[in-house]
Amino acid sequence: MHGDEEFRGEVREWLAANVTDEVRGVGGPGRENEAYPQRLEFTRRLAAAGWTCLAWPVEHGGRGASLSRQVIFHEEYARSGAPARVDHIGTTMVGPTLIALGTERQRRRFLPGIAAVDELWCQGYSEPGAGSDLAGVTTRARLDGDQWVITGQKVWTSLAHVADWCFVLARTAPVPAGAARHTGLSYLLVPMRQPGVTVRPIRQLTGDSEFNEVFFDDARTDADLVVGEPGQGWRVAMATLGFERGAATVGQQIGFQRDLDDLITLARRTGAVADPAVRERLTRAWIDLSVLRSHTLRVLAEPASVGTASVIKLLWSRWRQSLGELSMSVLGAAGAAAGPGDQDVERWRRHFLFSRADTIYGGSNEIQRGIVAERVLGLPRQDRR
Ligand SMILES: Cc1cc2nc3c(=O)[nH]c(=O)nc-3n(C[C@H](O)[C@H](O)[C@H](O)COP(=O)(O)OP(=O)(O)OC[C@H]3O[C@@H](n4cnc5c(N)ncnc54)[C@H](O)[C@@H]3O)c2cc1C
Repeated sequence: MHGDEEFRGEVREWLAANVTDEVRGVGGPGRENEAYPQRLEFTRRLAAAGWTCLAWPVEHGGRGASLSRQVIFHEEYARSGAPARVDHIGTTMVGPTLIALGTERQRRRFLPGIAAVDELWCQGYSEPGAGSDLAGVTTRARLDGDQWVITGQKVWTSLAHVADWCFVLARTAPVPAGAARHTGLSYLLVPMRQPGVTVRPIRQLTGDSEFNEVFFDDARTDADLVVGEPGQGWRVAMATLGFERGAATVGQQIGFQRDLDDLITLARRTGAVADPAVRERLTRAWIDLSVLRSHTLRVLAEPASVGTASVIKLLWSRWRQSLGELSMSVLGAAGAAAGPGDQDVERWRRHFLFSRADTIYGGSNEIQRGIVAERVLGLPRQDRR
């Protein structure tokens, strides 16, 4: 067994040989459609080399890598300028959920396709009337012989337009009298490519369409493709959210550092560094990022405790949003001008616009603060009638 530094060398070597100019730096939040076919091909190559499911146990097709190796991988990946991967919903959300809570049959059916990036996934939780209040989902599923029949609508479904499968939170039984509202929900694995499923793109502030409305009109899936017991899907749905980021956060923060470095270079070029307010905000961004990074590394090394994921989400989303706002100050009038600008203007305008979403997806900042208030500080629970 070789040491962590040899492992780092192996990762570096693979990336140096495989990250070509064609894919360098492409994709990411707000840029999910950028060079998609090339990124898909790259992610599949990454998978074939055994780098996509490092954290999964060996018996499920992963490498059972230690946390330090996962961190090393994500650090090196971000440093190399490798493109944003296209497999995160499969490899970091539904895959770990099936490993923890799926049946042996479900694992055998789905894990190989997720690990090889042959089958892509999307997340069917939010609905027009249920986002923060997820227990309010009204998509229904009923058993018809050996299949579930699903009817309802999901919304904001990222990457549904490229997904083969969707994990859908649906109501399969009414709420029993006196029971919690999330009783009776089930977590179903539903094939996307069938006549009962319609995907309609939603145009975002950036002009791009990365998420969609998804309509289920008597869509079907096999009866055994329910994860956990029917009616007990809430626990499974929450487990999936718990798996969402993990060690990848470290790579995300290295990407943030690169964004900040690029913004400083741009501020020198535009002359914005002469403005004391811009200098102060750039300095503050660096300090806040250092604090975020130290905090993340510390909590990753500790057993998960209530509120830590919320604190990290609150910190990074505000950080990225502030950097977008600062980039507009650095660009000045060019950032606000209508019509296409140069590459820098386009990049930062997109960052500025997309980062409005950072404080919404993955649980809005208001919801995260509510979690900290109620579950960490023990403040009185909000009236949710
Ligand atoms: C870029 C992006 C990608 C997404 N991808 C997916 C996806 O792939 N799959 C998926 O299922 N969903 C996805 N979502 C949806 C996302 O999870 C929801 O937008 C989010 O949970 C908020 O729900 P909502 O939009 O219904 O807003 P609401 O829940 O209606 O909230 C509206 C406002 O009220 C505030 N609010 C709501 N409840 C409370 C409360 N109890 N206390 C204080 N304030 C409150 C919220 O913070 C928000 O400001 C995505 C969203 C975005 C922006």
